[in-house]
Amino acid sequence: MGAATDTGQAGASAELIFSGDELLRGDTLNTNQLYLGERLLDLGIFTTHALCVTDDLRALVEAIRSSLGRRPAVLVLSGGLGPTEDDLTREAVAEALDRPLEHREELLEMINARFLARGLPMGESNRKQAFIPRGATAIPLTGTAPGFYTQHGETLLVALPGVPWELKQMWEETVEPLMHTALERQGEQHTQSVRRIRTFGIGESMLAEMLAGFDWHDPQATIGTRAHLDGVTIIVRGQAAPQGQRKLDTVQTRILEIVGEHAYSTHGEDLEWLVGGMLRRAGLTVGVAESCTGGLVGKHLTDVPGSSDYFLGGVTAYDNRVKTAVLGVPAQMLVEHGAVSREVAAAMAEGACRLLGADCALSTTGVAGPAGGTDKKPVGLVYIGSVVRGVTQVERHQFPGEREHVRERAAFAALDLLRRRLLREVPA
Ligand code: AMP
Ligand code: MG
Repeated sequence: MGAATDTGQAGASAELIFSGDELLRGDTLNTNQLYLGERLLDLGIFTTHALCVTDDLRALVEAIRSSLGRRPAVLVLSGGLGPTEDDLTREAVAEALDRPLEHREELLEMINARFLARGLPMGESNRKQAFIPRGATAIPLTGTAPGFYTQHGETLLVALPGVPWELKQMWEETVEPLMHTALERQGEQHTQSVRRIRTFGIGESMLAEMLAGFDWHDPQATIGTRAHLDGVTIIVRGQAAPQGQRKLDTVQTRILEIVGEHAYSTHGEDLEWLVGGMLRRAGLTVGVAESCTGGLVGKHLTDVPGSSDYFLGGVTAYDNRVKTAVLGVPAQMLVEHGAVSREVAAAMAEGACRLLGADCALSTTGVAGPAGGTDKKPVGLVYIGSVVRGVTQVERHQFPGEREHVRERAAFAALDLLRRRLLREVPA
């Protein structure tokens, strides 16, 4: 679908236009760009342009026209489909494509039904949401705004609401199946395939050294890395055709051999989801005792639906009195070693196991900053305790960055410690 563009990227290309003054003013993070860029890449479609545009009809029309002029395979518009004055995507697309807006009775009924279901009257302004450009196909509501798509020459133009969960649901339910069909029609030799190897515990520069033996710019298997709070992802891109897949398989296998147990997923699974699966399969329960992470470890573990199968609960033991009275950390130990110590991390994890009757436990104690650091215990120092079936282990970490970064890194490091221990100590 779509011709290869002159960007040097083989295969189908995408462009993204985000409308909304809130994105330009710095009020709202453009999470839709992160989401769409990743989903498109998973389909083997590379995004060549992404633009934020002010809520202005002329600016939007111009952005759409210039994008269409480059003939991308897909142009996704995000935002501007609401009922208010500054929601101009419908008008802008109609004008850019030189097609009139048409009223769709079925859309009006759907919008009406939504309001009825919530026991609210439909506003007069919502009527304009039932208009879409002639020839376009409506995407049913997920929230309150309908989306639409239409083919224009080589380009599939898709307009989605700005609300992230609405956009996501429409993408998954309607747009992605559409793209699969279009890609299949074209034959997969024009498309790219992506492998994502997620790792924890190795920095980006160290990974680069470990993978120095590869040609990172090999068009058959282009390698890149992305650092996130939950580790570094190695991204390998190549051709989707069977021959290309074999090449990707070979490279993936070699990378996995090199990074060893640091690699935790090749299919995009999150760390917390993976750890949860391991606990469930082993029939083990887990509890947490958190100081510097203030509940983040428990939060991540319970982000996974069904985590009540293995997650029992936790104690946020921020103050030393809670460490002592609730978790049974000896007061003398706190005096001798300080709250941020290997000994206290161990005692906290063991206390959580006892208190909650859990098979496994994780604990965190550290200096999140910005204040409170000393020469011996600088900001970023975190001890992570773990108990797996009665055996305690503690790891010492020194995280860089500011408070939030230290806390998030510590929470993921705790999950990763449990993952590595389960891998080694609990037979699958
Ligand atoms: P809209 O569809 O333009 O009415 O946008 C509705 C709401 O979705 C906005 O008020 C923002 O809070 C949010 N939003 C819009 N665009 C984005 C985006 N690109 N990323 C994240 N949130 C967004
Ligand atoms: Mg808007």
